[in-house]
Amino acid sequence: MRYPREVVDEVRLQNDIVEVISQYVPLKQKGSSYFGLCPFHNEKTASFSVNSEKQFYYCFGCGAAGNVFSFLMEMENCDFPEAMKRLAERAHITLPEPEKNAQAIAAEQLKKRLFEMHTLAGRRGQRREPICKNGRWTPVWQENSA
Ligand SMILES: [Zn+2]
Repeated sequence: MRYPREVVDEVRLQNDIVEVISQYVPLKQKGSSYFGLCPFHNEKTASFSVNSEKQFYYCFGCGAAGNVFSFLMEMENCDFPEAMKRLAERAHITLPEPEKNAQAIAAEQLKKRLFEMHTLAGRRGQRREPICKNGRWTPVWQENSA
C-alpha cells in the first residue's frame, strides 16, 4: 500500500516529532534541540537528540537517526503503512482507504478477463448474440451459425 506524497507530508507535518518521541522518551530542551536517553541503545547520559526545527532525531551514541516515521517503526517494530496509520489517527487525518484501491484493482482485473474471454470467443469463430423475442431480451445466447 503506497500513499500519495501529499498524504505522507501532511501526516508528518501534523505530528510533531518532539511530541511523538516524548511519549516514549522523557526529553529535556537544550536550545533548539531536545535530549533524552536513547531508546535504541543502553546509556546513562542522554546522547539522543531531537531537533524540533528539522523534525528529526539523532543519537550521538549509536548513530540512530531518522524522522517521525522511522522512529515509530523502530519503537513499535512495525512497517511504514502501520506507522502511517498510527500517526494519521493521532492527528485525526483520514487516510485513503486501502480496501477501495483493492476493489478498483479487482474490478480492473475482471474487466480485463472478460475482455480476454470475449476476444478468445471471437477467435474461435463462435459469434454469439443475445436474442430478442417478443420485445424481451432472453438471457440465452444463440449460436449465430450462418
Ligand atoms: Zn543511541
